[in-house]
Amino acid sequence: MNPDAMISTLKTLKLHGMADAVGTLAEQSSPAYQQAVPVLEMLLKAESSERDVRSINYQMKVARFPAYRDLTGFDFAQSPVDEALVKSLHRCQFLEDAQNVVLVGGPGTGKTHLATAMGVQAIQYHRQRVRFLSTIELVNALEQEQAANQQGRIANRLVHTDLVILDELGYLPFSQAGGALLFHLISKLYERTSIIITTNLSFAEWSVVFGDEKMTTALLDRLTHHCHILETGNDSYRLKHSSTQDRGERGRKLKSTP
Ligand code: ADP
Ligand code: MG
Repeated sequence: MNPDAMISTLKTLKLHGMADAVGTLAEQSSPAYQQAVPVLEMLLKAESSERDVRSINYQMKVARFPAYRDLTGFDFAQSPVDEALVKSLHRCQFLEDAQNVVLVGGPGTGKTHLATAMGVQAIQYHRQRVRFLSTIELVNALEQEQAANQQGRIANRLVHTDLVILDELGYLPFSQAGGALLFHLISKLYERTSIIITTNLSFAEWSVVFGDEKMTTALLDRLTHHCHILETGNDSYRLKHSSTQDRGERGRKLKSTP
């Protein structure tokens, strides 16, 4: 590692005093410094990778996924979803220009699983900030925030993340006022933060949830502008695999997975 690379690594690690000292020592071409370079390099590598691991663990925690899920655990043979599109989205390029994904399908068809797998990938391999939210809990929080005269706090936090997953839109109804708050939040995230929405509703049915035709049209207009749609069908994986025997088998499989 040349002195410039060393200085830049030290600065990335916010070790500015050491970065200055390395500059001086390298200029003086001190033999003690030359001897220490390999050890320093090793120590810096160790520190960098330890901080990486810590940061990924932290991001996984604050993302609040309901459970860990990845694509390895998803059986495409059991789902009508477009496998090529799922795998392409899983590469997380859609996050670069804040594109969105909508997962539509019946309950138990793998929507939350796929959304989580993308979020996990975004954190572990792309160092992105992700938040997983139940849509109804978010709407409740937005209403409480408004009641407490603290509008905008949640939005300001979410604007600084790279991916927001809104789970289960349409499973539970919310008030028209709540729908309007969610609409404003999504508008604020538009073209800055990617959104993945999981829902059991077709787009035509969204106005029932939001309680306002015009607003829903405006929302869909924004959301679907740069949007990928994944349909997971109506055949519940959970139901298909809920017989006692299958459950036992799945339990064993899960246990053997590290
Ligand atoms: P949804 O969000 O559509 O209601 P989930 O993603 O919660 O469905 O899926 C229900 C359960 O079934 C989860 O434990 C999930 O991991 C599992 N599951 C669903 N589809 C598949 C699949 N194709 N392969 C493996 N597991 C699946
Ligand atoms: Mg779900």
